[in-house]
Amino acid sequence: MDFLWKRGDTVSGLLMPDRVFEHFYDIDPQYLLSLGIKALVIDIDNTLAPYEQAIPNERAIAWFASLSENGISAALISNNKRERVETFNESLGLPAYCKSGKPSAKNIRRAMAQMGSDKTNTAVLGDQLLTDVLGGKHIGLRAFLVPPIKDRSSAFFRFKRSLEVPTVKRYVKHCSDVESVSACGFWLDKRYKSNKE
Ligand SMILES: [Mg+2]
Repeated sequence: MDFLWKRGDTVSGLLMPDRVFEHFYDIDPQYLLSLGIKALVIDIDNTLAPYEQAIPNERAIAWFASLSENGISAALISNNKRERVETFNESLGLPAYCKSGKPSAKNIRRAMAQMGSDKTNTAVLGDQLLTDVLGGKHIGLRAFLVPPIKDRSSAFFRFKRSLEVPTVKRYVKHCSDVESVSACGFWLDKRYKSNKE
């Protein structure tokens, strides 16, 4: 669990996740604390739950509880509409923002202000490089990536996923952590292409 992408100032570095996990719940609060991370801004759709799942499952609720028990703040930052975000957040009661327009960092900054965190101790977590990762990294946050729980299968979504592949390949080339490489299988095995309706 010691691999972490070295921060760079190149344009391609803005899309590069610092670490890839198979599932959100694989992110151990102790690992975050070891990096000095005290706050997470988290995407909802396909990061915490598939689109059709309206509320967090027990595993998600337990994971948020473990973050809280370890003094790590969390906020939900979604590009989806208000109803989706409010319903999902009902039992969690977190700072939550809808229609965020990621990669715009507007609501990420608002969430940090609400949590009392700053770019040195906040990380983003999401399933898309061009929205979640870029949204955090262009303002200097760390970024964690997970493969989508259940990717949409439209041509547009497959196209968006194909744009992520070169960056994921570059990540894997430099990554020696077996679990992180394994978590990249969604992109490398082109599972996003065979995921048809
Ligand atoms: Mg998402």
